[in-house]
Amino acid sequence: MGVLILVRQIIFRSLRYRHDNESVILVLTILLVLAVIVLTSTVTFCLSGVFVVGMFVLSALMIRSHHQSLMRTAYAINPVQTPELADVVEECALKLQPGPVDVFLAKEKQMNAYTFGVGDPKVLVLFSPLLKVMSPGELKFIIGHEMGHVALGHTWLNTIVGGLAGIPAPFGAAVILYAAFRWWNRLCEFSADRAGLLACGDLHHATLALVKLVAPEIRSQVDFDKALALIDAEDDLASNRIAEAFQSHPMLIRRINELREYARSEEYRQLQAGVNRNVGVRSTRPVAYGRPTPPVTMAQAEPEEKQQVPPEERWPWLKGRD
Ligand SMILES: [Zn+2]
Repeated sequence: MGVLILVRQIIFRSLRYRHDNESVILVLTILLVLAVIVLTSTVTFCLSGVFVVGMFVLSALMIRSHHQSLMRTAYAINPVQTPELADVVEECALKLQPGPVDVFLAKEKQMNAYTFGVGDPKVLVLFSPLLKVMSPGELKFIIGHEMGHVALGHTWLNTIVGGLAGIPAPFGAAVILYAAFRWWNRLCEFSADRAGLLACGDLHHATLALVKLVAPEIRSQVDFDKALALIDAEDDLASNRIAEAFQSHPMLIRRINELREYARSEEYRQLQAGVNRNVGVRSTRPVAYGRPTPPVTMAQAEPEEKQQVPPEERWPWLKGRD
C-alpha cells in the first residue's frame, strides 16, 4: 500500500503541452474530409446520371438507325405480300395484345428473331431461315415469344436497365451489376417463352421450336431425340452452369423444363382459355397437347398423323422428367 501512494506522488501527467492549434486543425481536417466525401459522391452521382442518360440517348439513336437500315433491307410483313405469315402474326397479336408492333422479315443466315424499341411502334424481326424450318405452330411460338417481350415492356426496360447496369463501377461491383442484369434477362426469357406457349397453344410446338433453334435440321423422331440428348447434357457441366450466370439466355433444357411446368399449371389453363377467346376459340380445355395446326405453304407443316400422337409417347424424356 505504501508503494502505491509513493507512485501517485511521483507520476505527473498533463496534456497542456498540446499546441493551441492542434485541435482546431484536427476538426478542420475532419470537416474537409467529410466535405470531399459529399462532393465526390455528388459528382459521382451526377456523373452516373449523365452516363445513364448518355447511354439511353446513344441506345435510342442506335435503335433509330437500326430501324432505318432495317426498313431498307428487310421486308415488312403485310397481308398483301406475305398473307400467310401476316395471318400468323395477326393471330399472335390478337392473343397477346402487345400494342403497336411492326414485323419485319430479314434475310439472314442464322435462326433467330428479336425485338427492340423504346417508343411505339416496337419492332419485331424474324430471320428468314425460321420460315424454312418452322411449322406455323412453331412460328407462333417464336413470334409470341417476341411479342411477350414487347407486351411485358422488356424492350424499353432492357435499354434503361442495361444502361444502369453498365455504369462505371469498381471491378467487383461491375461484375455483380452485370450478373444481376443478366439474371433479369434470363427471367425475361422464361416469361417470353410463356407468351410463346400462349400464342401457339401447344407445348409440343413450343418445345420443337426451341429445339429447332439449335438443331434446325430435325426431320424425324430420331433426329429430335439426338438433339434433345445434347441439349439435356448441357447443364451437366459445371463450367456451363457458371457461364450461364453471365448469359442473357438460360440453357435450352431449363427453358424446356420451365415451359413443361408452366403448361401443367392452373394459371396457364386460365390464361390460355383467355387468349383463345381473343381469337374466337371457345374451348376452355387446355390446348397444350396436340391441337393440330392447319398446314400452310410457307413452312413445312408436320404430317397430320404425327400431330395426333401425344407428346409423351413421341418423346419419352417427357415422362422421365416427371
Ligand atoms: Zn427472348
